[in-house]
Amino acid sequence: MGKNNIIHNVYVSQEENTLNWEEIQNSFKKIFGTEIYSSWLSKISIVKEYNDYIILGVPTRFFRDWIVSRYLDKILEQVKGFKQSLNRIEFKIIEENKNVEISKIDELNKITEIKDSIVNYNRLNPNLNFDNFIQGKSNDIALSYSKKVCEHLSRHNPLYVCGGVGLGKTHLLNAIGLELQSENNVMFISAERFMYHFIKSIKKNDMVNFKDFFRKSSVFIIDDIQFIRGKESLQEEFFHTFNSLMDKGSQIIISADRTPMKLDRVQERIKSRLAGGLVVDIDVPDLELKTKILKSKILEIQNQFKENINLSDEVINYVANESKTNIRELIGILNRIIAFSRVHNKTLTINDCKNILKDVFSQVKVITVDKIQNIVSNFFNILLSEMLSQRRSRPLARPRQIAMYLAKKMTTRSLPEIGRRFANRDHTTVIHAVKTITRLSEQDDEMKKNIIQIKSLLLEQ
Ligand code: ADP
Ligand code: MG
Repeated sequence: MGKNNIIHNVYVSQEENTLNWEEIQNSFKKIFGTEIYSSWLSKISIVKEYNDYIILGVPTRFFRDWIVSRYLDKILEQVKGFKQSLNRIEFKIIEENKNVEISKIDELNKITEIKDSIVNYNRLNPNLNFDNFIQGKSNDIALSYSKKVCEHLSRHNPLYVCGGVGLGKTHLLNAIGLELQSENNVMFISAERFMYHFIKSIKKNDMVNFKDFFRKSSVFIIDDIQFIRGKESLQEEFFHTFNSLMDKGSQIIISADRTPMKLDRVQERIKSRLAGGLVVDIDVPDLELKTKILKSKILEIQNQFKENINLSDEVINYVANESKTNIRELIGILNRIIAFSRVHNKTLTINDCKNILKDVFSQVKVITVDKIQNIVSNFFNILLSEMLSQRRSRPLARPRQIAMYLAKKMTTRSLPEIGRRFANRDHTTVIHAVKTITRLSEQDDEMKKNIIQIKSLLLEQ
């Protein structure tokens, strides 16, 4: 047996339960201050305690990275104050359990009226306001009418805001609510939550209260109305609520993931009501808006946590370019990157970002020009720099043309954009490449086989 088998230290961690987590939490409040405590530390639970370490539960990976990078030393020091033998802390991500949540809500509702539960679960979020909603070409009209509605109630009624996931609908609706809150009776609720109260009121035989409650608002904001699709009795109730609100001149603001007419399985009369005011839409953000949002988020985080976040323009540009369609995803990616740079305490390069984001992008199977270039150059066993270079020898030129062809076929980039990514070539070069490879892949079996193989490599990634 080799010397590797010699055991130097026999030390076994044993489970113990001596810590009082509540007491420790209280001490956190003192040393971290209530703000940091309530946004971060209060959400940490204790999962298991051993003689020499503890496992703490946190809600998400991002949360863990953030905690580890910023507070871990202090937390350990503090907990050691209660138990000297501890020498490390581990984290476990505990996904929020929806069932627990619902039973908690049920319990609460037993003792509260609809009003309180609305107050509890449909609070306006002070962080989603007009000030931090960044204007761009894709949301310009939606934003300006949202503001107009606040100035002149009932002029555009209902205001219907539509657009895909994560493009800012809830943010806008919330901003309207905040703006009008002080002088109006604002109700802000998701269609799903509306249904929840509706069903609960039916069960409790308390429809009178339900109707009263929802019909007394002077500004009624309902988010994600597409939720009512296919739910007949809910539509019926919504229709009545809608009509009586309109009758008394309340302003109604609605959001959905599609236009009113595209709401299939919704009664025609409701669709036409929804479309009867003003319909505005939010489109997919362009590069400029994405970049602006990233910069503003960075500032926001800097101010909130009083620290310097050092991301180069190059990195910001990379993130804005890679994240295709969705602002929620864009911000999620930014958070990951910031957490990573915290943990590793370094200024990030594009390559770091690529690594961090590998799984994010592969989940959604986004194929990028970069990815195509990498895979094609690997496939032909040439250097990426050679493939992009100006040299025209066939062993370099063909792969280059194949990569251009695939970039055109498999991404949404325009010809000039693709040209730029290939060491600033002209778009006519790209057109020529696409034509050549299209022709060759029809005539030449070898080429056909190569293209199929590269495509499947790309889709596998
Ligand atoms: P939706 O309701 O359309 O799915 P959200 O309103 O939840 O989208 O927006 C997703 C995320 O993107 C939120 O964090 C929101 O604050 C942010 N966001 C969207 N649009 C903007 C914008 N124009 N400026 C700043 N943040 C934005
Ligand atoms: Mg939303």
